[in-house]
Amino acid sequence: MKQPLLDMRGIIKSFSGVRALNGVSIQLEPGEVLSICGENGSGKSTLMKVLSGVWPFGSYEGEIYFEGDLVKASSIRDTEALGIVIIHQELALVKEMTVLENIFLGNELGSFARLNDEEMHRRTSELLARVKLDILPDTPIRELGVGQQQLVEIAKALNKNVKLLILDEPTSSLTTTEIEILLNIVSELKQQGIACIYISHKLEEVLALSNWVTVIRDGDHIDTRSVENLTQNDIISMMVGRELDEL
Ligand code: ADP
Ligand code: MG
Repeated sequence: MKQPLLDMRGIIKSFSGVRALNGVSIQLEPGEVLSICGENGSGKSTLMKVLSGVWPFGSYEGEIYFEGDLVKASSIRDTEALGIVIIHQELALVKEMTVLENIFLGNELGSFARLNDEEMHRRTSELLARVKLDILPDTPIRELGVGQQQLVEIAKALNKNVKLLILDEPTSSLTTTEIEILLNIVSELKQQGIACIYISHKLEEVLALSNWVTVIRDGDHIDTRSVENLTQNDIISMMVGRELDEL
């Protein structure tokens, strides 16, 4: 078998003795999109926090292999260095700074360390064009809407050496146009061999975008299915643990 990009095996995570994840395993190849579905509180974000180093190595059971190597991250800096970038539901940009400053913030160890001002402006303009944002690099974040900020976060991720992009419910507060842009970006990334984990309650988006759908219920891994022949009703049945006509 080909070596997967990501191989999470039997992840168990507890909070004060209560299990939020009860042995969840997922695999992903480069250029694939995996969606994770589950009701609120089922453990989706916790699984992504384990993957991205928010919950460090040693605070969970199970193993994470990325490009074949065991991941022992102690922070999101460590996972970003590997090419794993997470965009959380809660926005994380610094409101008082500009788009450019946010994009290059915390990237001083990255490959753009030696860019001068002009190069950073050019690079930021390119990234903004890629996410279809018609704003200037010097625009303060506080002047942007939530959806625009989400797209700036994606631009920031694209400025890093991203191999796996994690989007945790990114479209919950976006306009239809912004959702379209975001879904197009994910499709483009897919074509470039960048993998994506997508978390959304919008099952139409999930089915349109994904290769695989993993369903989690109460911290249990219910199933991972190919989207071929998978319907929205199939996903909902797995999420709630009953056939829909029983509901
Ligand atoms: P989802 O993203 O699927 O809505 P979460 O992963 O956020 O679910 O939460 C899964 C379970 O873990 C919930 O019962 C939640 O209350 C609990 N949980 C998540 N984060 C924490 C935390 N930091 N401390 C205590 N409990 C938590
Ligand atoms: Mg969540």
